[in-house]
Amino acid sequence: MTRDAATAVIKAILSEKDFLNDLDAKIGDGDHGLNMVRGATAASDALNELNGDENAKNVLQAVGNAVIMNVGGSAGSLYGAGLLAAAEILDENAVLDAKTLENVFSAAVNEIQRRGQANLGDKTLLDVLIPIRDTFKAENCVGKSFETLLTEARDAARDGLELTKSLIAKKGRAAALGKASIGFEDPGAASALIIFRALCGFWKDSRRF
Ligand SMILES: [Mg+2]
Repeated sequence: MTRDAATAVIKAILSEKDFLNDLDAKIGDGDHGLNMVRGATAASDALNELNGDENAKNVLQAVGNAVIMNVGGSAGSLYGAGLLAAAEILDENAVLDAKTLENVFSAAVNEIQRRGQANLGDKTLLDVLIPIRDTFKAENCVGKSFETLLTEARDAARDGLELTKSLIAKKGRAAALGKASIGFEDPGAASALIIFRALCGFWKDSRRF
């Protein structure tokens, strides 16, 4: 991911702060927007300190570390660990294609699952991240342009968020609500969609990672 891609994500998060706080207020403690903005601001500072060498690996590493060090709660540690795991599997010559995105999202999903002990259907950010990853699997890519795959992945992410409305929360503060958590989107899944939408917009315009 280039610094420009990260900047597009940061901008999207800043503009959705109130939306994410409001979502979190319905089934949690109302601070998800604030936490995401904290992470975005720290990421922005970290990117300003990256001198010159801005390959995807370095950018993801800088953002991941900034998020882990500056964002409290489960969102910070899960997003941060996911970003670092994604950075880990990239080399400095990584190109933007379906294979790379499958690898990046697989690494992030696996690490987030390992840490959070959550599965698909538990009403977490994984309900958005796993459908994105699955879109880029080789068997789904046959005969499709990269552009088409980005659109499919964005739609799958949106459907994943929509589905979290019907799910009972199994993780985090919302889990205490049990069935009362039904009817509301998961804030973490919502922020994951916001991040991915911003990346898709950037990638479609620039064709750069
Ligand atoms: Mg919260």
